[in-house]
Amino acid sequence: MKILSVNCGSSSLKFKMYEMPEEEVLISGLFERIGEKASEYTIKLNGEKYSKEVELPNHKIAFEILVDELKKNNIIKKLDEIKGVGHRIVQGGDYFDKTVIASDDVVAKIDELATLAPLHNKAAITGINAAKEVIPNATETVVFDTAFHQTIEPVNFLYAVPYEWYTDYKVRKYGAHGTSHKYIASRLNALLGRTNTKLITCHIGSGASVSAIKDGVCIDTSMGLTPNAGLIMGTRCGDVDTSILTYMMQKKDISPKEMDTILNKKSGLLGISGVSNDSRDIEEGIAKGNERCVLAQKMYVGKIIDYIAMYYFELGGVDAIAFSAGVGENSIRTRMDIMEGLKVLGIVPDVDANNSRGEEKLITTNDSKVPVYVIPTDEELMIARDTYNLCN
Ligand code: AMP
Repeated sequence: MKILSVNCGSSSLKFKMYEMPEEEVLISGLFERIGEKASEYTIKLNGEKYSKEVELPNHKIAFEILVDELKKNNIIKKLDEIKGVGHRIVQGGDYFDKTVIASDDVVAKIDELATLAPLHNKAAITGINAAKEVIPNATETVVFDTAFHQTIEPVNFLYAVPYEWYTDYKVRKYGAHGTSHKYIASRLNALLGRTNTKLITCHIGSGASVSAIKDGVCIDTSMGLTPNAGLIMGTRCGDVDTSILTYMMQKKDISPKEMDTILNKKSGLLGISGVSNDSRDIEEGIAKGNERCVLAQKMYVGKIIDYIAMYYFELGGVDAIAFSAGVGENSIRTRMDIMEGLKVLGIVPDVDANNSRGEEKLITTNDSKVPVYVIPTDEELMIARDTYNLCN
């Protein structure tokens, strides 16, 4: 059965087509700068890659070209062979604790939740509507980044602000990256050979979050009402003293919208280093002796260690820790810095094993009290699995 896994941004469409249940990737690609100038798309097929510049006035045209490419490359002969289309949705609020079919009622709820994730949820709806027009007979599903975190108890999801903010305005922790944390946890359980486990999963990419997972169920996560909570990220500040906001808004006459932009787009590694949001550039800066890059890396790593320590206590121990996403899968240095900081837990890094990128791997020695793994995440596969299950 052919299943399409898609992730629509306001000007992008990323896709992977799977043969299910074999979980074989048939083709993948990315449409960029939709609705802008110089738009283009890239297709990956059989280990080869090609790009084309085309006019992409909207997501519907992107889906039409996608279908043409599927036919041209003999992935499908007829449109009806695409049985399911699964969409990644950032914010599902407390309405959704699992993947569901994208009915009109569900889409209306995603729209209602757009106040919490304005860019993402609106873009996803554009993608859902475009896919429905272009591939009308497929089952459309929606897979929420927040769903896996819906098992978190009030003691961990509430903020110590007036309770009515929660009852009247739904102010609470929702988390994000849930699909990724769920995938990493399922891989860790497979590697450990059991499901009654205490796990700490670190999804550290340009966005970053840590989750505490007990017996396959999420009990806490570092992102909050929005993704700008918890860890220091590429451009997001993560946890800060909230009084800084009002203080700086008064000092520099900053509007709420401007403040939101500064905290989400100009902070994090970029804000501290003044160099870049990309950890490769930070590492290059450190090699050149840039003190602010050294500081940014120390703060970044320190915050991850803080959360791992906190979740170690919340879980009452830990059976395995995993690193994933762009930094977690590729930054040898960051993983080593974090493991060094966790020595008190009896963690012993395996320097040779850690010296690789993008591979599922144990990176601690056999006598390490806690095994630490690199687990390349696969959110697209999770979307395809859920969509396949709903199609059945
Ligand atoms: P993601 O959001 O998961 O795609 O992660 C993107 C981020 O991963 C980039 O901004 C970099 O900070 C980081 N990254 C990717 N490759 C490397 C690498 N080889 N070394 C260090 N960081 C990397």
